[in-house]
Amino acid sequence: YPDLAGHAEDLYERADYALYHGKREHRGGVSLFSADHHRRIQHEAAIEQALRNADLEAQLTVAFQPIMCVASGAPLAFEALARWCHPKLGQVPPADFIPVAERTGLVHRVTRILLAKALAEAVHWPEAVGLSFNLSMHDLGSAEDLAALLELIRASGVHPARIDMEITETAILNDTAQMQRAAGLLRGLGCGVSLDDFGTGFSSLSQLLALPLTKIKIDRRFVTGIQDKPTSMKIVRSLLALSRDMELGCVIEGVETADELAVLQELGGNLMQGYLFARPMPPEAVAGWLRHSLPALAARA
Ligand code: C2E
Ligand code: CA
Ligand code: CA
Repeated sequence: YPDLAGHAEDLYERADYALYHGKREHRGGVSLFSADHHRRIQHEAAIEQALRNADLEAQLTVAFQPIMCVASGAPLAFEALARWCHPKLGQVPPADFIPVAERTGLVHRVTRILLAKALAEAVHWPEAVGLSFNLSMHDLGSAEDLAALLELIRASGVHPARIDMEITETAILNDTAQMQRAAGLLRGLGCGVSLDDFGTGFSSLSQLLALPLTKIKIDRRFVTGIQDKPTSMKIVRSLLALSRDMELGCVIEGVETADELAVLQELGGNLMQGYLFARPMPPEAVAGWLRHSLPALAARA
């Protein structure tokens, strides 16, 4: 005061925003409200207003990115990634609109629309190809919300064993007991449960081991340029060993180059995802892409 805000209400709001971003981006550091924060508040307000008024059923779509089994060259599954094209805002990335949808309680609607669309595609794929779907921690907050999702799966005709639900490590931190119940229900239905962005949160191993997981996904930050980063190599090697001991699948995310792939294979990685194999593609491109991997799929089956 008086440089960053003129009166008490603004001052309070902006301090709160700086605190929120400080916690998210550099925990333990100092965060000052900036012009950039001001722009972000305006951008988020525009997204919020658009989300509330949009025809989400028409504007939300899913893109699909394969998760590869490198040894066989066949896709294990496709991960569904949310896409939102708004008439005025254009393409809004999920990293921008999902947090706003979560904050405003609109995420339940968003998730249901996306899951229904993803399942409607997956039902046409070969049985051997699974669907991996991202859930927000808010989707698992109440028994009713979860029941609505389970009902969508039952009605879709996609066998639950083909579906993996991805939850992020940060979601688990918020309410371990609730996550445990939700993951238990999903497993009870026959779905897999993957821990997304593994290594980015601050959960303890005991919190993680309490969950009935089937896979972990190693975050891209440990993969980018791994050939020149001895520390990343050690981390990935340990996580692969941990997943083996716990009898969990382990997907390595964000593989972009042949050099990264070579190191990751050397370390014992097999399930991978990233631009090196394929970028996220629109639903109508999946069938054509699958035709190329049919020989590998047949060999695996
Ligand atoms: P995520 O679940 O970790 O998804 C992976 C993100 O990495 C995707 O970004 C994907 O396009 C991108 N990616 C994949 N391979 C590569 C690579 O080789 N290099 C690089 N640089 N990036 C790669 P996207 O689609 O923008 O999604 C961002 C995040 O938004 C997702 O991260 C996920 O947390 C969230 N999200 C996306 N779709 C949904 C959804 O349907 N529901 C929820 N709750 N969250 C979603
Ligand atoms: Ca994911
Ligand atoms: Ca991830």
